[in-house]
Amino acid sequence: MSWSVGFIGLGNMGSRMANNLLKAGYKMTVHDVNCNVMKMYSEMGVSTKQTPFEVAEASDVVITMLPSSSHVLDVYNGSNGLLQGGSLLTPRLLIDSSTIDPQTSRKLSMSVSNCTLKEKKDNWENPVMLDAPVSGGVVGAEAGSLTFMVGGSEDAYLAAKSLLLSMGKNTIFCGGPGNGSAAKICNNLVMAVSMLGVSEALALGQSLGITASTLTKIFNSSSARCWSSDSYNPVPGVMQGVPSSRNYSGGFASKLMAKDLNLAAASAEEVGLKCPLTFVAQNIYTEICKDGHETEDFSCVFHHYYSGESELN
Ligand code: NAD
Repeated sequence: MSWSVGFIGLGNMGSRMANNLLKAGYKMTVHDVNCNVMKMYSEMGVSTKQTPFEVAEASDVVITMLPSSSHVLDVYNGSNGLLQGGSLLTPRLLIDSSTIDPQTSRKLSMSVSNCTLKEKKDNWENPVMLDAPVSGGVVGAEAGSLTFMVGGSEDAYLAAKSLLLSMGKNTIFCGGPGNGSAAKICNNLVMAVSMLGVSEALALGQSLGITASTLTKIFNSSSARCWSSDSYNPVPGVMQGVPSSRNYSGGFASKLMAKDLNLAAASAEEVGLKCPLTFVAQNIYTEICKDGHETEDFSCVFHHYYSGESELN
């Protein structure tokens, strides 16, 4: 399908995702509030627009990759936003890949469903929105190996699949609107809590006289094994090629983990579910950021929160 694709939000993730779409041959129109980024794309010969609305007018599909819910709301509902044209929309599909709260995804999906298409094409009756946040980070965005967690109509998901696979290697349909956003914040909640659990146990082990290297071997061949112990170990010197082996640089920043835990905590409060680990994890990552480690990889809790020791020789 030769869709023309609009892309809004060309930051660390978005620029790499947009570049993979360009490589795949999609005709693109882009927008970002950062003039330098716009200049760069313009010099690459890509069509740039001053507002989200102009991007919408030029596109069959619009993808957004923005910092947070407020930015997404602004790009959709702001004065020059995607939905500025009232109930008539040019793009048939709007895909938001930002990590935001499921409630906002659901509200926006409803607003989009209440619109009609300016021009009906390829049997699409109404415009549709998908929430499609990603996991895989900047490395996955660059390599085109992201995993998309998709909420919305299943037909729209199937129609969007090949477009998403130009930027990723997995797509998982999660159910109705907002379920992609829900999946993303639940995934990162597990990631935070398991990292804290592994860090806490390895630091305790060191204090009791067992090295983290020995304890990690035990975890990885027994019931404590998890991604934080066997693929992303937080102790400097235990694994090569992970952020802990390079001063906690070049990974998933603690401030992004704090942001995702804030979303999980707000969602837990909204539905009234008892989620004590969510709030403990939120407090720890808030503290880590306040102490000046916000750009360090989130595995730095081992060192900065638990005062665990490096096992680098
Ligand atoms: P970023 O801050 O690097 O990029 C955001 C881009 O959006 C910037 O270029 C900014 O200028 C632009 N922008 C902000 N407001 C805008 C507006 N109103 N209109 C147009 N452009 C606007 O952020 P990022 O790291 O690329 O993350 C984007 C999203 O992806 C976030 O929701 C984040 O939580 C999520 N995410 C990030 C990672 C990661 O490792 N960086 C991993 C998974 C998910």
